Amino acid sequence: MNTNQIHFDVIVIGGGLAGLSCAIHLSKNNLSILVIEKNEYPKHKVCGEYISNEVLPYLDFLEIDVFKLGAKKIDKFQLSTTNGQLISADLPLGGFGISRFCLDHEMAKKAIYNGAKLLQDAVEDVQFYEDQFSVETKNNKTFTSKIVIGAFGKRSNLDVRLDRQFIKTKSPYLAVKTHVKGNFPNDVVALHNFEGGYCGVSKVENDNINLCYITNFKSFKNHKDIEEFQEKVVYKNPHLKAVFKNTTSFFEQPLTISQISFEDKKPIENHIIMCGDTAALIHPLCGNGMSMAIRSAQIASHLILRYFSSEIPNRKILEKQYLREWNKAFKSRLKTGHLVANLFNQHRISEVIMKGLKLFPGVLPHIIKRTHGKLMEAK
Ligand SMILES: Cc1cc2nc3c(=O)[nH]c(=O)nc-3n(C[C@H](O)[C@H](O)[C@H](O)COP(=O)(O)OP(=O)(O)OC[C@H]3O[C@@H](n4cnc5c(N)ncnc54)[C@H](O)[C@@H]3O)c2cc1C
Repeated sequence: MNTNQIHFDVIVIGGGLAGLSCAIHLSKNNLSILVIEKNEYPKHKVCGEYISNEVLPYLDFLEIDVFKLGAKKIDKFQLSTTNGQLISADLPLGGFGISRFCLDHEMAKKAIYNGAKLLQDAVEDVQFYEDQFSVETKNNKTFTSKIVIGAFGKRSNLDVRLDRQFIKTKSPYLAVKTHVKGNFPNDVVALHNFEGGYCGVSKVENDNINLCYITNFKSFKNHKDIEEFQEKVVYKNPHLKAVFKNTTSFFEQPLTISQISFEDKKPIENHIIMCGDTAALIHPLCGNGMSMAIRSAQIASHLILRYFSSEIPNRKILEKQYLREWNKAFKSRLKTGHLVANLFNQHRISEVIMKGLKLFPGVLPHIIKRTHGKLMEAK
């Protein structure tokens, strides 16, 4: 990118789904946008890669056609207990499977096409002074802007820099993801429990199967490596044993992340408008983090456009409205997500719930509905 330009209307820190949705939306409306992303595209990310259909109208507005990219339509859900008892249900709204390798890359290309600038660098500091931001990067570049969008994901050096509260608490969760080849239905997303965690299974483009599990460190630390953990713990669920044993991974090594925190965060800090996981992370059990990231970007983009057109007269009102709309959209699903995850975390309780769900499978779509949103607007 030409770095002679140093001032932008909006600087977006982090080019994941939240940051790129903002970049596409705002550049489509002729604001000058700089996205600073520390990694190159395309790149694999630890994620279950099942996205709720609620985002489709908005992705259409952003001119991202996931089905042209090979996304798989998914409308069935399977849930199994640690010992393999299976419950099946239709997904109330349905969703699709697409890899982050493919989707993030496509969205980055669209943002650039719309005129946004993309810089591969890591932001190290953000200062707010005299109603303007100053953003410094690892490669010693400094940019200024009227607005900064924080879309730097669930955990970043910037959380430490901004002294955010959640980063001070250690989190026990880690996750492992791989892509495999083998047999699995196109239209199913499965969530199979094992002691201390659960694993999502669903297809993405090119007939690849995503296997992504989350577990706690307490359960993991007694084993010498991932293979031993899978053999001794994960494969006790016969569905997981079958899917891991009868498929071939084509990642050299599985991807791993640790310190996944579900603690409360603030959607605005130091006047930075936080989007996606930077504002809050819902338990992956709910399969809704990506649509929340995209939805929060839509909310932020609408308000920022109104701010630049002076319909929103000042920063204070912009921030107040963002907080209000963010809470309205996400507070209740985050609460249900926490509750469901806490119940599933307790072995005995989760077995009782599963027995109940087997007797009354009609309850399952209602629980799913409570952790998901409505179809987003196409604007
Ligand atoms: C195990 C697991 C499974 C999941 N499965 C699903 C699922 O199946 N469905 C679903 O909907 N959600 C799922 N989620 C949640 C989903 O992955 C996230 O909600 C989603 O990725 C959020 O997107 P984002 O844009 O906020 O963050 P990200 O996609 O993480 O993007 C943040 C970006 O910021 C960049 N960055 C960070 N710091 C800096 C810096 N200082 N300077 C520059 N760039 C920086 C990073 O490189 C990254 O690209 C899962 C999460 C986990 C942990």
